Amino acid sequence: MRSISIFGATGSIGESTFDLIMRGGGPDAYRTVAVTGARNIKRLAEMARALRAEIAVTAQEECLPALRDALAGTNILCAAGQTAIAEAADRPADWVMSAIVGAAGLVPGMRALRHGGTLALANKESLVTAGPLLLATAAKYGATLLPVDSEHSAVFQALVGEDKACVERVIITASGGPFRNFSLAQMQAITPAQAVVHPNWSMGQRISIDSASMFNKALELIETREFFGFAPDQIEVITHPQSIIHALIGFCDGGIMAHLGPADMRHAIGFALHWPRRGHVPVERLNLAQLATLRFEAPDPERFPALRLARAVMETRGLSGAAFNAAKEIALDHFIAGNLPFLAMAEVVEDTLARLLQQNSLQIPATTLEDVLRMDHLARKTAADVVVSRQQGS
Ligand code: NDP
Repeated sequence: MRSISIFGATGSIGESTFDLIMRGGGPDAYRTVAVTGARNIKRLAEMARALRAEIAVTAQEECLPALRDALAGTNILCAAGQTAIAEAADRPADWVMSAIVGAAGLVPGMRALRHGGTLALANKESLVTAGPLLLATAAKYGATLLPVDSEHSAVFQALVGEDKACVERVIITASGGPFRNFSLAQMQAITPAQAVVHPNWSMGQRISIDSASMFNKALELIETREFFGFAPDQIEVITHPQSIIHALIGFCDGGIMAHLGPADMRHAIGFALHWPRRGHVPVERLNLAQLATLRFEAPDPERFPALRLARAVMETRGLSGAAFNAAKEIALDHFIAGNLPFLAMAEVVEDTLARLLQQNSLQIPATTLEDVLRMDHLARKTAADVVVSRQQGS
């Protein structure tokens, strides 16, 4: 029986993964090693019971008594804290879903790779912060790393059987988010409640707001470079408001392969779950006649500066991805808390990168996990200082 673990089980990707596992036979078809979550203890316990998991872990130490209560009468182990999540990743599983949000997903993913199984990577931050390390770890332990982001799953699928040397360009699509048609003046007043509503996808709060600011697409540009190794000038972003085409590959003979699918993450998760075969996945089937047209437009760099910042990171590489992501996470925290205007998020990230560049700390190669975590810490502190400076008007 195939063994699985789901990190970030209680989130949007975690729920979709759980749905596919349950439809595929649940505990009768899969042996679940670990499920993890953070604050949603009720749901974590329900999933652990339904899957008959060996261990359930919450990231929040203070939630451990509630988790123990919710799992009383079962023999499911309970644990709490980031160390416990990393230790859960030390328990071997054939297939592991990495769906914790943010840089917190990096360490468990790295640890899970050491068993040589398959890591289904929804946590794009792992590739952005530590791409070369992650790929080297997978290679060292003979593990398989599969992208779960819809665009990267699409690129992966379009490249099956192709010679990468014949690829001229890779185009990832962006919906443009809820503010695609907002003027700069309108964007000054965007609230977190507006930013969290995505026109096409149902996702967690943080990635939804990142989609609205196009920081999500910025992360995906870097992710494309790190995962597939294409040069920055080969990777393009096109706004495609319908979110039907997820990525396109342009080949040296002028042909283009596009990957189409409904805006339902269960397609990409299901692809990773069944890989290297294809299995049935219960997503809506596209009706092309009903769709009739597919629309595209160029993203506006003035209203969405995150894309320009990502280009700089793609060129610099080293520890700049870790700094970019950490600064973005701090800026996002402040926007959600109502302390920072929507457009100021990009300014905070840009100022943070400029300060770190001045210290010559971004170009240093990310040789070890400790280097990455140190930069993550430094960039968070620097970004917090940048926010304070802005608030003091200095
Ligand atoms: P959610 O916010 O919906 O879920 C995040 C999960 O991580 C939850 O299980 C949450 O627990 C847990 N969690 C939150 N903070 C921590 C922490 N500090 N340590 C450990 N666990 C934590 O996120 P999504 O499912 O939307 O996204 C997950 C990842 O997948 C992200 O990296 C995102 O960029 C990526 N992704 C998501 C897509 C989507 O459609 N949602 C599409 C492509 C990629 P709890 O809920 O119990 O608090």
